[in-house]
Amino acid sequence: MTRFHYRCSECGKTYGRDEVRYLCPRCGGAYVPGEPLRGVLEAEFDLGRIGREFDRNAPDWSLFSAVEPEHFPTYPVGNTPLAKAPRLGAEVGLRNLYVKNDGLNPSGSLKDRASFLVVAEAIRLGEDRIVTASTGNAASALAAVCAAAGKKAVIFVPAAAPKAKLVQMLLYGAEVVTVKGTYDDAFRLSLEYTRERGGLNRNTAYHPLTIEGKKTVALEIWAQCGFEAPGAVVVPVGDGVILAGVYKGFRDLLLAGLIDRLPRLVCVQAESSDAIHNYFTTGKFRKAALPSTVADSISVSVPSNAHMARRAIVETDGFSLTVSDSEILEGQALLARTTGIFAEPAAAATVAGLRKGADGFRQDEVVILLVTGHGLKDVDAALAGVKVPEPIPPNIEAVGGRR
Ligand SMILES: *Cc1c(COP(=O)(O)O)cnc(C)c1O
Ligand SMILES: [Zn+2]
Repeated sequence: MTRFHYRCSECGKTYGRDEVRYLCPRCGGAYVPGEPLRGVLEAEFDLGRIGREFDRNAPDWSLFSAVEPEHFPTYPVGNTPLAKAPRLGAEVGLRNLYVKNDGLNPSGSLKDRASFLVVAEAIRLGEDRIVTASTGNAASALAAVCAAAGKKAVIFVPAAAPKAKLVQMLLYGAEVVTVKGTYDDAFRLSLEYTRERGGLNRNTAYHPLTIEGKKTVALEIWAQCGFEAPGAVVVPVGDGVILAGVYKGFRDLLLAGLIDRLPRLVCVQAESSDAIHNYFTTGKFRKAALPSTVADSISVSVPSNAHMARRAIVETDGFSLTVSDSEILEGQALLARTTGIFAEPAAAATVAGLRKGADGFRQDEVVILLVTGHGLKDVDAALAGVKVPEPIPPNIEAVGGRR
């Protein structure tokens, strides 16, 4: 039996599990366009008890889960591989660099983790419709989990979302609304939709279980590192929910007494979508002017979870940096040719971040590069950086070269 309550990340007020659904009512409980969400809720467990009950030899992950396994859809998420990346490590001066490849989730991104838990919650609540705004991956993940669970996904995406992601959600059978506008516009519209037409809203950070879903990647990293905290985790950041989820996972472990320190969290944003980076470095929030980056999954002007994301960097003694589109595409190519992993641009931003932030790491510490999405989701972006060879007649002379 899952026991937890929600605590407002801002005012600290607690609420029973079924007392509130989205934001803290006392902190406004409303979405104000142009501002990050206020009063985002965090699930608070009895971590002392979990620390006593958790058995490394027979891990019961449901202890950390805000929804009981009996409500889980039949859609396997997570348990993605963590592999050492010695060749990439040599390029960036790190001896213990590992890649957590979350692009291998069923719909091709880490978003499966959040969608899975929110759909489980919808099953628990008996809600048939789940609604989200998305730059693409959250929507394709939601559509996929809904397909497995027999639920209806209603999706608001910017019309500019990469084709593969649109194809995914349509094929999974979602109701897709493409919005002439930015992701921020789609976000606002999806909130109006659930307010006026009903359904459960899965918007990132707005539904507190998106953070809980994403935290599972931290629990896995811990287990895969032999039940030890790594030195640092490098995270690509848009709305700041993956970052907050990774933080929440490690903080739960710390408060349960299962680790004795937090890994430093490193926030990597695109230059044109730098609101969280700027908030961290200046202490003041301002929105990113006009987000336009090849890394569509982190293209956000007003990150919904900016407050919690900033706290995650501060409280783990981490740091933050921005990378340009050309650095992202170089990072994508470097990752591919040194590890065999094809990541979408947003996920490859972390590789660019590793290079740029090299001074922030110790050579021997365990550094985890979080690859959040698969490269096949956006082939066009990668195509710009490669040259497809001219066709030749099918004879060996035309092949050229020597024996
Ligand atoms: C959503 C996403 C991100 C960013 O996550 P946020 O929670 O919005 O910060 C990074 N990479 C990929 C591939 C994503 O889909
Ligand atoms: Zn509050």
